[in-house]
Amino acid sequence: MRVLITGITGQDGSYLADFLLGKGYEVYGMVRRSSVEKLDRIEHIREKIKFVQADLLDQLSIISAVKESNPDEIYNLGAMSFVPTSWKQPVLTGEFTALGVTRMLEAVRHLNKDIKFYQASSSEMFGKVREVPQNENTPFYPRSPYGVAKAYGHYMTVNYRESYGIFACSGILFNHESPRRGLEFVTKKVTNGAAKIKLGLAKDLCMGNLDSKRDWGYAEDYVRAMWLMLQQEGPEDYVISTGHSHSVKQWVEAAFSCLGLDWEKYVKIDERFIRPAEVDLLVGDSSKARKKLKWEPGVNFEQLVKIMVEYDYNQLKKTV
Ligand code: NDP
Ligand code: GDP
Repeated sequence: MRVLITGITGQDGSYLADFLLGKGYEVYGMVRRSSVEKLDRIEHIREKIKFVQADLLDQLSIISAVKESNPDEIYNLGAMSFVPTSWKQPVLTGEFTALGVTRMLEAVRHLNKDIKFYQASSSEMFGKVREVPQNENTPFYPRSPYGVAKAYGHYMTVNYRESYGIFACSGILFNHESPRRGLEFVTKKVTNGAAKIKLGLAKDLCMGNLDSKRDWGYAEDYVRAMWLMLQQEGPEDYVISTGHSHSVKQWVEAAFSCLGLDWEKYVKIDERFIRPAEVDLLVGDSSKARKKLKWEPGVNFEQLVKIMVEYDYNQLKKTV
């Protein structure tokens, strides 16, 4: 089996590549040109991956990448994935995160309609939630240009499935984290910040809204769900979540206390991190995935905090 992964240099792409190599897949990774290499997350497997250069902005480059890799499955994980940046660069976010999906689907439609396609959709589409918990039938109400772009990508995936019979699945994944999470996301920012304070490398940590709630899971568990979706008899959409929601404040408390620190002495609220519109509460109902895919998360909130704090602390300790 051959696979093409877009976003292979990102958190999920790196775990998915690990997972699929373990299953014996020939793994092609789509990467965009950069003046400095950004292969840190896949350094340990770089010799096993075949790289194809392309950009989600460039239709012809995508067609060439799909032709060259000739995959059985495509996982479209590439996107501008950070919510605050989507307000600063809303048009570019639309190009990558929304139209990029159509460009990928067009390549499939023109080259080989038998390719199975996975689209990385997001719980951010639920935004100002219409019901609690959120499932596959919950209406969307996105609250950021990122959420709007993801909703477009989701509907295009459904549309290409229904219009052209493509095996296209949209995985509506709730927030998932890991030691490989980007440093600007709240979980990693906090575990890294707390570890720095513990080691005397920082004095405090500036944060935004501590009251919002997220359903946080472990990235390695979530890439398994992506693969399971493409192994079913037919293409469908699935919510992937733990079903448990915690506030940002609870994450902060748990991370600092792992290191024996009282968070209230170090965390400062800084207006710069408050967003123009907030998603207050996300909690997913993944009963469809649990039943049909026989998927379930293996790591809970406390374990996830501990995995990330210990990793960051041990990494930073090497530098002091
Ligand atoms: P990351 O931000 O870690 O990775 C994003 C990837 O997209 C990087 O490999 C990046 O490449 C690539 N990329 C960005 N722009 C382009 C472009 N124009 N052309 C080609 N590649 C591009 O995201 P995650 O791994 O966390 O998430 C994977 C996907 O899942 C994303 O689509 C995200 O929006 C979605 N998602 C994530 C959730 C989460 O909690 N992590 C929740 C729900 C959905 P480069 O290294 O060159 O920048
Ligand atoms: P998101 O759910 O995709 O937006 O993931 P993030 O990890 O970026 O943010 C999760 C929540 O943490 C949001 O409600 C943010 O408003 C909140 N938050 C509070 N302080 C911060 C901060 O300093 N950085 C980030 N990224 N988020 C913060």
